Amino acid sequence: MHTPLCHHAVGEPVEYAARALELGLTEIGFSDHSPMARDDFDDWRMRSDQLDEYVMKVREAQQRFPQLAIKLGLEVDYIPGHEAWIRDLARRHPWDYFIGSVHYVSDSWDFDNPKKLSQWKERDPFQVWTAYFQRLTQAAESGLFQIIGHADLAKKFCFYPPQDCTHLFKAFLAAAQKTRAAVELNTAGLRKDCREIYPSRRILELAFDAGVPVTFGSDAHAPGEVGADFTNAVELARSVGYRKFSRFARRQSETAPL
Ligand SMILES: [Zn+2]
Ligand SMILES: [Zn+2]
Repeated sequence: MHTPLCHHAVGEPVEYAARALELGLTEIGFSDHSPMARDDFDDWRMRSDQLDEYVMKVREAQQRFPQLAIKLGLEVDYIPGHEAWIRDLARRHPWDYFIGSVHYVSDSWDFDNPKKLSQWKERDPFQVWTAYFQRLTQAAESGLFQIIGHADLAKKFCFYPPQDCTHLFKAFLAAAQKTRAAVELNTAGLRKDCREIYPSRRILELAFDAGVPVTFGSDAHAPGEVGADFTNAVELARSVGYRKFSRFARRQSETAPL
């Protein structure tokens, strides 16, 4: 879940937590978009010097709602070459988890950004999906992340390649299995053009076969999105065979029954 520090979310952590309690959730986590080493990298994340403020906002929600487990995380962009920066971030606070996400398939194209939609029309979807899954595989291999976020974000605007992508999915899942990174069932996909949870049933079936753990996220950018469509997500996980899910504390995973 996010905070206004990323400039495209609304509501303070205390409001998200209040909503979670209303819904009867027992545990939530914040994972706002992490700062980049360069603050001018893009315009949809907190600055480096706001990291402490972010942590303070989450701590405030923890203090206000002691009856709710509130985890402290970050959604970290995986870009090859940024590993040292990510390790630096990891040392700054006692994080419960890092979600590794790929939004950039090159240093300048954040392909899920609606402002950059026109670039999809100039490219071959299969090439974009290949680049996306190669980066996602590297993210999983890096061992820097407890969770891999929205693992088929490339489908967001429905630019589906006609080619078979099974080999791309399998390479990613083999890497995730090796480093014990969980795949997130992210319900935000249902609110986008693709109208489908990230990742697809097909990828989730392959994930189950490969022994990759799962976890759940609403990717809420507003208090009203907290826990959105979790019933569907749990049903999907169970329908492909999952009976356990992962949760996280101090960057270690533990398993809970589903
Ligand atoms: Zn966001
Ligand atoms: Zn994301």
